[in-house]
Amino acid sequence: MQNIIEDDAYDLAIAKAEKIGERFTEPRKLVFQSLIKAKVPQKAYDIIDYVSRQSEKTTKPPTVYRALDFLCRIGVVHKIESDSTYSICSHNDHCHKANHSPLFLICKECGDVEEIHLSDIEDSIENAAHKKGFSLTRIMIEAVGICQNCAQK
Ligand SMILES: [Zn+2]
Ligand SMILES: [Zn+2]
Ligand SMILES: [Zn+2]
Repeated sequence: MQNIIEDDAYDLAIAKAEKIGERFTEPRKLVFQSLIKAKVPQKAYDIIDYVSRQSEKTTKPPTVYRALDFLCRIGVVHKIESDSTYSICSHNDHCHKANHSPLFLICKECGDVEEIHLSDIEDSIENAAHKKGFSLTRIMIEAVGICQNCAQK
């Protein structure tokens, strides 16, 4: 059973895809679903495993990678580079940017990841790159430490 928040994230993702004339194909749907269900960032092989179990046909890893690329491209999923995991964007519905570069606070104890969008940091990176004549493809801002929950234990 999906709860309200999960349904919202799902509807939002579909709306974003439709806006650029893309469909939420079966693999895209299943990949997104696996990330929503997991609640914590997932490695690609965990997602491949989930998708294979859910679909009738065998799912080849490249299909899952293509779906992940697509979901990242439209900004509903982020890739966390430092540990190669994927996470549902938790900020989409209230962001002024179509596709933002968030800061990830990654807890090294429990693996919890918190997403915060710091527009001013993103803007200054964009400006600095622009001044150097550098065209950005992607910005990754990741911080590792101990989350509040783990610190209180
Ligand atoms: Zn996000
Ligand atoms: Zn934002
Ligand atoms: Zn923690």
